[in-house]
Amino acid sequence: MVKSSVLGYPRIGADREWKKALEAFWAGKLEESEFEQQLQEIRLNHLRKQQEKGIDLIPVNDFSYYDHILDTAAMFGIIPKRFSWEGGAVPLSVYYGVARGTKDAAASEMTKWFNTNYHYIVPELNGASPVVTENKPLTAYREAKEKLGIEGKPVIVGPLTFLKLSKGYSASEFDAWLNKLLPLYVQVLKELAAEGVQWVQIDEPILVTKVSDADVARLQTIYGTFAKEVPGLHIVLQTYFEAVDRYADIVALPVKGIGLDFVHGLQGNLESLRTLGFPADKVLGAGVIDGRGIWKASLRVKLALLEELAVLVPAEQLIVQSSSSLLHVPVSTERETKLAPELKGALAYADEKLVELVLLAKAVSAGSAEIAAELEACDRVLQALQDSEARNRSDVQEKVAELRVQQPQRSRPFAERYAAQQAKYQLPLFPTTTIGSFPQSAEVRKARQLWRKGEWNNEQYEAFIREQIDLWILLQEEIGIDVLVHGEFERTDMVEFFGEKLAGFAFTQYGWVQSYGSRCVKPPVIYGDVAFIGDMTVEETKYAQSRTGRPVKGMLTGPITIMNWSFVRDDISREQIAYQLAYALRQEVEALEEAGIGMIQVDEPAVREGLPLKEEEQAGYLAWAVKAFRITTCTVQDTTQIHTHMCYCEFHDMIDSIEAMDADVISIETSRSHGELIHSFELNTYKLGIGLGVYDIHSPRVPGVEEMTAMIERALRVLDPKLFWINPDCGLKTRGHAETVASLRNMVEATKLARDKH
Ligand code: GLN
Ligand code: ZN
Repeated sequence: MVKSSVLGYPRIGADREWKKALEAFWAGKLEESEFEQQLQEIRLNHLRKQQEKGIDLIPVNDFSYYDHILDTAAMFGIIPKRFSWEGGAVPLSVYYGVARGTKDAAASEMTKWFNTNYHYIVPELNGASPVVTENKPLTAYREAKEKLGIEGKPVIVGPLTFLKLSKGYSASEFDAWLNKLLPLYVQVLKELAAEGVQWVQIDEPILVTKVSDADVARLQTIYGTFAKEVPGLHIVLQTYFEAVDRYADIVALPVKGIGLDFVHGLQGNLESLRTLGFPADKVLGAGVIDGRGIWKASLRVKLALLEELAVLVPAEQLIVQSSSSLLHVPVSTERETKLAPELKGALAYADEKLVELVLLAKAVSAGSAEIAAELEACDRVLQALQDSEARNRSDVQEKVAELRVQQPQRSRPFAERYAAQQAKYQLPLFPTTTIGSFPQSAEVRKARQLWRKGEWNNEQYEAFIREQIDLWILLQEEIGIDVLVHGEFERTDMVEFFGEKLAGFAFTQYGWVQSYGSRCVKPPVIYGDVAFIGDMTVEETKYAQSRTGRPVKGMLTGPITIMNWSFVRDDISREQIAYQLAYALRQEVEALEEAGIGMIQVDEPAVREGLPLKEEEQAGYLAWAVKAFRITTCTVQDTTQIHTHMCYCEFHDMIDSIEAMDADVISIETSRSHGELIHSFELNTYKLGIGLGVYDIHSPRVPGVEEMTAMIERALRVLDPKLFWINPDCGLKTRGHAETVASLRNMVEATKLARDKH
């Protein structure tokens, strides 16, 4: 019998009850014992669901009180000194201190988990003396067995991945750290084996990135040690998110099973398997059900794939599994009541994926006739979505086919546009501006609520928004900012706002996924061809411009950011989706220009996030991402000034792509990568307009004039003063009114000083 397996199940719960419990506990509204009990209930409920659906290998220890990397660090007592932990089991106060900060100690850094939108807490090794504080996988295994009779499969982050994702050590100390951690891993595994655990899943997603010879040697040491020290334990070495690098070396490691991603790494993994074969003595965990997408799988296509694999690997050595943990998808489509039937029918969240896994395992074991009815039903729902009007807009498809072969370009090069724009706007040296949003005060949020609930009609709400715009236009003038914005008061979110106004998008009720800690996001779904249906931002922008003689900058979210922050259809390429979005946004750019708006900013903070894990694919991605930006912005007149904005990430290694976007002005966050960014500008004379953020907006602190002056002077050492703009790091929507005004006043003051000096 072919087995089915899950690599991890979402933590948040169908009603986000996990999130609610965490937040109630943090707010002191829940006693620790009550909290523990609620979390146990949630955890058992998730296990029970997998058991009822008939999953053979059910993961345990995938559940977390915050993040699984933090759990691993806590299990090994890797707690930064500043949290004054005194050894022993790590109490929740310390655990959450590391994650969220305390009044005395800053939180540990948080960063993106590979190419997903999940963020993990970065372990800080410096100063740590690792010990096993608690065998958490063992606790989880026992709980599942005692309470539900489940023979769980503990999931553990592997040593190579754990160390590579940690910080606080130098490259030359890597092996010393490995030597410290290895015995602790052995201890944990031995205790599991002694308890009678059969399968352990050791996650090494790092193996889909570049693996060096030294890393291969390390893997041999690690898994060789496990094989020797804990010989009876069945270890599945699990990879995901891409095809593995160094396939031959990896499948030769002395473990019982190898887990490969046949969704996101389909081509590479299949190719390796076909050409190099698979060891006869190992089990293959075939990740065929997408752990990251929300679409139903074509059971027929997956079955064909599994049948091919079953030729290469004996059926009894095949496990049908999800491509990654299901952490990255929502819980259940069951209560989605507002979606078009052809869309809902084609969705599969975590619970629906459990069913798919079990069906496929059954079909590979007993033949496809066993699931004939399900195969047909599946074909039917997928076909219904394919045939829907939303997916068959020939106008959009023809346009995109055209755009694909064109090289979108402004009509004149930057130098000429610069002259034309200067002649028109007569901006002073070092023009000042902001990134778009102003504080979304309680009043603003309240107004939106009243309007959404129907207590306010459109007129009331629009009048309120206009008042806010009036207020902030006056303030910006009074502070002395040169290029104004309307403030984005009508937007909750920079993607949802546009999605709601474009064709091809849908919004779910329960499509929540964990982003970091208790924070969940509900990405829009791009399920059809994306098309412009009407103006999206013209009214507010035009109104703002009518209230001032200074230029008001229009504000749009760019195609790549909208795409990267949505769930997208998987029947066409991301490149095509990006061009559809770009073409729709171009029509908004043109509408703004038509309405007399002379400066338009197209935000692209998420470009970097979409970067493929495989180095060899990165240039291709960047090329079409840049092209999508150019499609959006290339048709305006020379005198229309295109701005863009980027943040959240380190951009120093992609300056060439940023330059190729050909925006007249870019404003870029520098607080997180200042040194390196400045350094790369030194090497790479950037020749378009640029504002390096002169203050970090992530804190309520009001930066002083001297501080900003120092930032300005540092930037001016490497950048052409004629091209330099002065602005904060990012939008100000999360800041308070008073601190925003005070900071901007200081920014303008620092600008005046710089003007006098240069
Ligand atoms: N224009 C947006 C704002 O100011 C940009 C947000 C972002 O970069 N994430 O809020
Ligand atoms: Zn930003």
